[in-house]
Amino acid sequence: MPHSPHYKPLIGVTARTITRKAALKERAWDAVPRSYMVCMAQEGANPIILPVSMPAAAAAAYIEPLDGLLLTGGDDIHPRFFGQQPHPSILVDDERDAFELEVTRLAWQRNLPILAICRGIQVLNVALGGELHQDVPSQVQGAVDHEQKGDGDGTWHTVEVEPGSRLAEILGTERLEVNSFHHQACRDLPPELVATARTQDGVIEALEDPSRAFCLGVQWHAEVTAQVGDAPSKALFQAFVAAVRKGSGAASKLPRPAPSA
Ligand code: MN
Repeated sequence: MPHSPHYKPLIGVTARTITRKAALKERAWDAVPRSYMVCMAQEGANPIILPVSMPAAAAAAYIEPLDGLLLTGGDDIHPRFFGQQPHPSILVDDERDAFELEVTRLAWQRNLPILAICRGIQVLNVALGGELHQDVPSQVQGAVDHEQKGDGDGTWHTVEVEPGSRLAEILGTERLEVNSFHHQACRDLPPELVATARTQDGVIEALEDPSRAFCLGVQWHAEVTAQVGDAPSKALFQAFVAAVRKGSGAASKLPRPAPSA
C-alpha cells in the first residue's frame, strides 16, 4: 500500500537502561538521549524508541514497520556475545545486548538502512560476527587517548577516512576532527564490513558494508556535534535519512527472514 502524502519514514532508535527515581524509588528506565531523536526529526524522519527490555524473540515484530535503524551509544557489550572472557574494565548494559543484536541482524538481512554510533558501531560489528578490543588503553600498542576530557561538543582527535568509501563521499573529506568517548573499539571485522576511518594508532573509527543500501558506523558521537552545527556530522544524518527515504515503501526491502534461534 502506498504511503499517504503525510508519511515520514520511521526510524527505530535503540534505547539504553538508565536508573531514575519514579514513585519515590530508583527504578530502571528505557531511555534515549534526545540528541538522536532531534537529528532524525530535523531531517524529516519520525524516530521511534526501541526498548531495551524486550527479549530477542520480539525483534522481528519491532523491525516490521521500520524504514531504518539508528544504533545509539551506551555501555559495553557483554563479551560472551563475541566469545571473549570479560576484561575487568568493562561496564555492561546486560539487558540491552541480545535484543539490540537481533534487531541489528534482522535489519541488515532486510537491507534496511543502518546508522551506528559509538556503542552502535560495536553492536553492528558483533551482530555480524566481529570482535572487539575490550579495553583500548591496555590492548592497543601506542593507543592515542580516546577518552575525551571536556564535553563532546568539542573535538578530540583526528581520523583518516578511507578514500573512495561511502563515508568519504558523504563527508567530502579524508581527514576529520571528531569527539571520542570510548574505551572499546572494533578489532576483527566480519567479511561483510570494511574499516573506513582510523586514528593514527590504527583503531577503527568507522566501518561500512558496501553491499548494503546504507550500512555505516562511526565511533564518534556525531549526534552531539550535529547539534552544535558541525557540517560533517549533519551530512552523515542527511545521507542516512535520504537513504531511509529512498528505501521506504518496502520496495527495496528484502523478504522478512525467519527468526534466528
Ligand atoms: Mn576515538
